[in-house]
Amino acid sequence: MSELISTDPSNGKEVGRVVMTDVEAIAEMVAVARVAQVGWAALSFAERALILNRAGALLVERAEAIGALGSQEMGKPLGECQGEAKYAAGLFATDLEEMREAYADVVTENKRVRTTVVRDPHGVAVCIAPWNFPILMPHTQVLPALAAGNAVLFKPSERAPLTGQAYADALLEVLPEGGMQVVHGAGDQGKALVEADVDLVVFTGSRAAGVHILNQAGKDLKRVILELGGKDPMIVLDGANLDKAAVFAARNSFGNAGQVCVSTERIYVADAVHDAFVAKLIEAAKTTEIGPMVDARQKAHVVAQLERADAQGAVVAWRGERNDGNYLAPVVLTGMGHHMEMAHDETFGPLACVFRVTSDAEAVRLANDTVYGLGAVVFGESVHARQVARQLKAGMIGVNQGLTSTGGTPWVGAGQSGYGFHSGVEGHRQFAQVRVLNERR
Ligand code: NAD
Repeated sequence: MSELISTDPSNGKEVGRVVMTDVEAIAEMVAVARVAQVGWAALSFAERALILNRAGALLVERAEAIGALGSQEMGKPLGECQGEAKYAAGLFATDLEEMREAYADVVTENKRVRTTVVRDPHGVAVCIAPWNFPILMPHTQVLPALAAGNAVLFKPSERAPLTGQAYADALLEVLPEGGMQVVHGAGDQGKALVEADVDLVVFTGSRAAGVHILNQAGKDLKRVILELGGKDPMIVLDGANLDKAAVFAARNSFGNAGQVCVSTERIYVADAVHDAFVAKLIEAAKTTEIGPMVDARQKAHVVAQLERADAQGAVVAWRGERNDGNYLAPVVLTGMGHHMEMAHDETFGPLACVFRVTSDAEAVRLANDTVYGLGAVVFGESVHARQVARQLKAGMIGVNQGLTSTGGTPWVGAGQSGYGFHSGVEGHRQFAQVRVLNERR
């Protein structure tokens, strides 16, 4: 029986440990899920929602403790991680209301035929989560899967297993036996889950693992929903409010130590405002609080990218102070060019990388010069900024703000940032199989 030991990236101390799931045990877990799924799907949506809302209430009570655990396991500042836990717990009621609409029958009639579009569960769903939002990411996968009537095998990240388990515990306490099971481990367990006799694979994580999963799932045409990495651009136009743009750029480049799928990874700034923007960005950077990187491997990846950018002519315009252990001092880089690796490969670290551009057309061309397409942000005078925003090939675009929406909208990646998507009525529906029933009237 091997154990997964979770350590605190700020000091290397053990936070706790879980028993790793034996990959040989996964087939039996799927068989248990298959039996349980029949009973779970036989409940009405309202009955399932009542049960799931009880888990939401437990999570509200436990949010501070779960957030504190998440902060210890993956290094996000305490208040931010507790905020994430409270946010996820608070989503249950509104999400379930949206899911009721998503999965409800839709009836249409003409003189001769009555057609009912129904949305049935796929069956057994696998949910594989990353560590960077150790509560919110599982939530966006597990809740729609269960609400639609699927049984779930949930694998938290090996870098935040205790937080994933704590989130799952609230559900395990209210769900019927076998409705959800937790699989602990890393890539081997993830691969075994994808290869198992399951019907839906829901994955949030890196593009590389997403490609592997899609190839594997394609062998027997399993349904997949993949939310993958990004290389989000930000464009600062001449005419932008530079104070607001700089504060946003610092917050979105350095937040969660840059380990966010929609972190600002590339900043294209109009020549006319470049120097003024960089000066304000440095001022804003000085006020940002960041925790350690998740582990030494992630820090080494970012340091290696930085060294290669340095060798290719990037200029360190500012560097923060704390650089010990898994902490990586945040950096503002200027003189960036598209020949650099850092213009194309996801960094996932606390770097603000500034590229000087001489026209809107150049900004748009470079912003779109990526295989990714998750988020993008434009700051500028509003009509101008909107015109530029419409030309960007991202799934989610912010104009003079981040990606916050009025709510109920999909979380969606274009290009190689996603394959399928979740959230919003359209997203929830991907967790169900649509069928069409036609009756003679
Ligand atoms: P990762 O791909 O290394 O791991 C994610 C999960 O998949 C983990 O649970 C891991 O054990 C498992 N896994 C790894 N290889 C697998 C395989 N071949 N088959 C099945 N499972 C496998 O990613 P990570 O380091 O945990 O997370 C960071 C990545 O996630 C970044 O690329 C980030 O941009 C992305 N991300 C995307 C979103 C989004 O909404 N699009 C949100 C958060 C994170």
